[in-house]
Amino acid sequence: GSTFDANLIKKDFPILAERVNGKPLIWLDNAATTQKPKQVIDRISYFYEHENSNIHRAAHELAARATDAYEAARQKVQHFLNAGSINEIIFVRGATEAINLVAQSWGEQNLVAGDEIIVSNLEHHANIVPWKRLADRKGLKLRVIPVDDDGQILLDEYSKLLNPRTKLVSFTQVSNALGTITPAKQIVEMAHAAGAKALVDGAQSVSHMRVDVRDLNADFFVFSGHKVFGPTGIGVLYGKEDILNATEPWQGGGNMIQDVTFEHIKYHNAPNRFEAGTGNIADAVGLGAAIDYVTRIGMDVIGQYEHYLLEYATHLLKQVPGLRLIGTAANKARVLSFTLQGYTNDQVGQALNQEGIAVRTGHHCAQPILRRMGLETTVRPSLAFYNTCSDVDTLVSVLHRLKSGHRN
Ligand code: PMP
Repeated sequence: GSTFDANLIKKDFPILAERVNGKPLIWLDNAATTQKPKQVIDRISYFYEHENSNIHRAAHELAARATDAYEAARQKVQHFLNAGSINEIIFVRGATEAINLVAQSWGEQNLVAGDEIIVSNLEHHANIVPWKRLADRKGLKLRVIPVDDDGQILLDEYSKLLNPRTKLVSFTQVSNALGTITPAKQIVEMAHAAGAKALVDGAQSVSHMRVDVRDLNADFFVFSGHKVFGPTGIGVLYGKEDILNATEPWQGGGNMIQDVTFEHIKYHNAPNRFEAGTGNIADAVGLGAAIDYVTRIGMDVIGQYEHYLLEYATHLLKQVPGLRLIGTAANKARVLSFTLQGYTNDQVGQALNQEGIAVRTGHHCAQPILRRMGLETTVRPSLAFYNTCSDVDTLVSVLHRLKSGHRN
């Protein structure tokens, strides 16, 4: 059993009181996006009611309030990731934008024809497409770490891919399609030993486990606010300060320059260097509130509870006749991808929706790993700390009913 009270947590999330098709909503699409606690929603409203202004520019009271709120949010992110300096935290639109930023600034500047980038077979398209495009443009080689049948990275195969031409290893800490937790610290260490930099995609990990970028020793780390109970349209690029300041800016505009003439431009250092234009101030502040919220509960407590719930769900799903779990690594988080014999994944998704249960069906923007598992799509329930054993019981009972041939 677990002493964690998810029912109490649920009360903080207004949307979880919704009804869908006459049934209480059961939100099991947390790998796609997470719901927002009242504390986050209220914080964003408070910003627009009491603090709204552009930042850094005007010398008036509201500009000072907005700037303070925005920079306080940056500091919360710094502490959340245990980054060494607040200057290492760059606000972007999300994980996708963060990876594209690194590809188009650091990658564009530092990689030359013949250089190699390594990704893993587990990656989300957001951590494939920017590198493939860069590789095609510059004549780089994109190499892929294979996984075993359970969906875990093969470290021996990885070590064979590393060579003096390897310049970057970019990989996910938790797979969004299978839930695999990769041995991130070891992967980074091996990249560094080969003289390469490492980017860790934390889109699925930050809501599940305590992340420490200094312990990981990642050169870059990215995540999206909306997957950690914060708003959409805000995310974070962490980068080591010396690397960021040696990297050419990405977009140009206001906010990122020290001095502009028509002859010469002098840029700010990070983070402003990479924050051209007016950013998503209110949602950065909302992300800060989300970080406060999970920090108050404790990331270790959240991780332990989600692990308990994952084991509970795995045990019950395995007893559904004809259900094949996809992704069976020993070290897993949040995600329960499966197929159900006799039904298409869409049919399963629709039957669950009929009962108020939200899951994702499809390729989860991770086609290469599903194809590695011999599939095009799966049904994917994914857990968060506001889910209960009762949510899982309802999911499993609908699947049993489907298998026994009557839907209601
Ligand atoms: N990486 C992983 C592992 C993800 O799960 C996702 C979102 N599904 C992303 C990157 C992209 O995140 P976003 O769409 O928020 O930019």
